[in-house]
Order: sequence, then structure tokens, then C-alpha cells
Amino acid sequence: METIADQRDQTKRQYRDDYSLKNRNPGNSPKVLLIHPPVVRPCEPPPGLARLAGALARSGIAYDLIDANLEGLRWLCGLTPEASDTWTRRAAGQADKSLNLLALPDAYRSGGRYRQAVSALNRVLDKNGHEMGIHASLTDYQDASLSPARSSDLIKAFNTPETNLFFPYFERRIKDVLAESTPRVVGVSLNFLSQALCAFAIIGCLKRLAPDVCVVLGGGLVTSWLRQSGWATSFEGMVDHMVAGPGEDPLLAVLGKRYTGEPALPDYSEVASLSYLSPGLVLPYSASNGCYWRRCAFCPEKAEGNPYRPIPVSRVISQLITLKEKYRPALIHLTDNALSPALLKALSLNPPGVPWYGFARITPQLADPDFCMALKRSGCAMLQLGLESGSQKVLDAFGKGVDLTVAGKALAGLKQAQIATYVYLLFGTPWEKEEDAELTLDFTVRHCEEIMFLNMALFNLPAHGTASESLDTQSFYKGDLSLYRAFAHPAGWQRRDVRRFLDKKFKRHPAIAAIVRKDPPVFTSSHAPFFAMTAQ
Ligand code: SF4
Repeated sequence: METIADQRDQTKRQYRDDYSLKNRNPGNSPKVLLIHPPVVRPCEPPPGLARLAGALARSGIAYDLIDANLEGLRWLCGLTPEASDTWTRRAAGQADKSLNLLALPDAYRSGGRYRQAVSALNRVLDKNGHEMGIHASLTDYQDASLSPARSSDLIKAFNTPETNLFFPYFERRIKDVLAESTPRVVGVSLNFLSQALCAFAIIGCLKRLAPDVCVVLGGGLVTSWLRQSGWATSFEGMVDHMVAGPGEDPLLAVLGKRYTGEPALPDYSEVASLSYLSPGLVLPYSASNGCYWRRCAFCPEKAEGNPYRPIPVSRVISQLITLKEKYRPALIHLTDNALSPALLKALSLNPPGVPWYGFARITPQLADPDFCMALKRSGCAMLQLGLESGSQKVLDAFGKGVDLTVAGKALAGLKQAQIATYVYLLFGTPWEKEEDAELTLDFTVRHCEEIMFLNMALFNLPAHGTASESLDTQSFYKGDLSLYRAFAHPAGWQRRDVRRFLDKKFKRHPAIAAIVRKDPPVFTSSHAPFFAMTAQ
């Protein structure tokens, strides 16, 4: 009978066949290795690393890019958990079928088969980590004994990479890379807390195998750490450079080059043909860093003082068209915090030729039905809208710059144009009282026919920034790297009350329950445009 060790060996061989380095740069050994660590939704290539890859390619520097998130999750899905129950054994036996199903457009017509596949894969991942005290899923990685918000635990993850669930995969993978080339610099992109333990374990493994390699750590989470006032944590001896904000300049500086001129075209050539869990290639593209609005209270973009750096819209349009011709994606994911009105207008006049979606602020521009129709003609499949509240008083205190009358017209215009809306609501802000949450309930119910998907979140108070100074705060969860703080709500609308309101009232309203049921489990907004497109 095949043991788990046999399975691990077999899957290692399999991924080596699938992913082993091709001789991409004959006579020109890669100098840079870029790594996307687990775990985040494995449905599209990593956009930050594609930008770095583009900058390296333009500077004539050879590189390799490993999507360790996709590879690691696929590897782990291929293992049968020890001591499995019947359901888990069946889920493990059908893991390939489930993975393949998520790549079929038809699966996005029937919510049932899709949900079954996602749930089966999550079960296999979870059970594979069970004995090690690790909860793994398609979107998360939690270790019962290590917190990603504690620097001492990240150091432990670095020092004991063999305790990481993905270790057999990434140790072999790194050895294979090192056998074929000697990267001088390794760039690791760390954007989410769910990646932190794996990122440090991968760096630990790398430094054991190649102690002289220079590790550059960047990404959204690292930016948030570094932009906190009084940041004093040291990962000396583990990470050679930590980078806040866009990484192109710092990475090239480490390599003794300068990044000049217009932003380079992102390079997806190393990853575009990988089997992401989506029905066709989803190409993420960022037309800006920061946010053009930057006025919402408690927004990290404001608190961290991240500058707004847009790529000129004409260049965005030409880059999107080039990317479409080069990679033939099924969908473009515009990853900006908020697509600027100028960019939306340019997209409406110059369709990229592929369906696209992204976040937009609710402005009078969207309240114009003709403009919504023009967006639809340009390929807009879905807009993510940060409405946050149905109380004008709360919106004004928040600095959202959203007028509820305009929001109502925008939702109606988008519905008429058959553009799906993914509306984000935020409960429990310092200005919200229960009666405001009731107004949000009323607004949502009144517009339930125009809202296709809903995201409801509890407000988390950023630990840093002047906006929280007037509040009575305590630690949110233990850890010196925690980005949030708990606070006593000024009006007594505490977190537990907000949670109760959401669970017992808001989500139970039949009109809202019907919207919530449509949300694709696990992949949520990443797969929502596919459901929206097949529903039309
Ligand atoms: S629109 Fe979004 S990203 Fe921009 S300031 Fe407001 S919350 Fe922040």
C-alpha cells in the first residue's frame, strides 16, 4: 500500500516535471529569483512580482519566478491525509478532479459543483495539516504554536523551516533551482498575514542551502510594518533588505542598476501558463500605487502616508492592450485601491478587448446611466464598490465622499448596464450607532435587486495613525507586529453587539440572505466576475 512518504516522493517528481526550470536563459544563469509564498487565493499570478519581473526584464537581468503558493497548494492537495475518514479519503481521491473543475467555465454556471469542489479541497488541505497543528486552506495558513503577528515566531519559522507544512515541497524546489543556477538576489513578496510564516520558513530554508544569497523582502504587509511609526523589529541575519512600497527601485539598486523612465510592462511569461484555479488566465494589473482619494479616516493608505503614483492613463491603455495580445487572458483584474475617474473614462473610450473588473469609488460619474453603458461596452464585468454604510452621517464622518442618493443611482445604472456590483459594507466604526447600522440594512434591502454580491466586515482599528488617538484602545491580539488595536466604542456599540446584529438580524433578512448565498465561497470577489458573466 502506498504510504504518505511514497505519495510525497511521487508528487515531488510530478511537480518537478511540471514546474522544473527550463533552460530559459541559455548561457545566462538567472541572477534573481522571485518567490510568491503560500497561502493566498491561488486563482491568478502574483501582480507585484510580475511588476518586478518586468523591471528586471527591461534592465536585461535574468530571473526566475516561483509561484510557491500555487505549486505548494497543488502539491498539498495531492497528498492523502493519514488516518483519514471516508469523506476525506474520497475528497483526496478526487482532488485532481476538483482542481480541474475550477478551471472549467461550466463550473461557474452551477454553484453546487463549484461549492463541492472548493469544500473538498479545503478538507484535504486542512486534514493534511491536522497532525502538525496546522490549519491550511486555499486562503489561509495558521499554526497552533506560531503567530504571524509575533516577530519571535517568525524568527522561529525561519530557524525551523522543517516544521512548516509545505517544507517537503519548497525544500526540494529550492534545491532544484540552486542546482541549475545560483541566484545572487532572492526577492520574496509578502502581502498578507496568511503568507508570513511560510515566507520566513522559505527564507530560512534558502539561507541554509545558500547562506550568501541576498534576500530582499517586500510587499503590502512589509510596507505596513515599515510604515508604522517607531518600527524597530530586526530580522538581521535572515533578511538583508526590507522594502516599503514599490520594489522596482530598491531591487534594482541592490543589483547595482537604476530604474528609470516609464513603468515597465509587467512580465507574466514565467507564470501565465501555470494552472491557476480559474476558468482561464486572470491577469492582475495595477494602474497606480496608493489611492487618489486618500481621505477616508483610518484607511491604511492615509495612515501610512503612501503616496499616490498613477501610471499615465494612455500608458495604462497601451499596456493593457499589449498584455492582452501577449497572454490572451480571460479576465483582467485591475488591482488599484480605487480606479480613478480619468482611468474609468479612458477605459470606456478604449476598451482593452477583454472583460475586466476592479474597485471604484461611488462618484457622480457612475450615476450616469450612459457612462455605465459605455463601461459595459468596454468589457467591465464587475465593479467593487466600497459603500461602507447606509447612513449619510457615518459616511460624512468617515470622509468617504459618498452621497447615498448618488450611490442609489449608480447601483441602478450599473444594474441596467448589466455590470455586476460587489458592495462592501463596514460595521462598528467609531461613528456608527445601532440606528446607523439599521439604516445600512434599509439601504441594502431597498437596493437588493441591484447588488449582486455583498461583503460585510467588522471595523478593525489600525494600530497606528493619528485618527485613533482620541479612542480608548487595548491590544487586539498578542504580537508586536499586530496592525490593529481593540477600542472601547464611544457610543457603546461594541464589537460583540455589532457581531450579534450582523448574525441575528442583517444576514437573516431574506433579501440579504439571498445575496449572501450567491457569494462564491473562499474565492469570493476573485471568482464573482465569472459567476456574473455566466449568469448573463
Ligand atoms: S477609497 Fe479606499 S483606498 Fe482610498 S482612501 Fe478611501 S478607503 Fe482608502
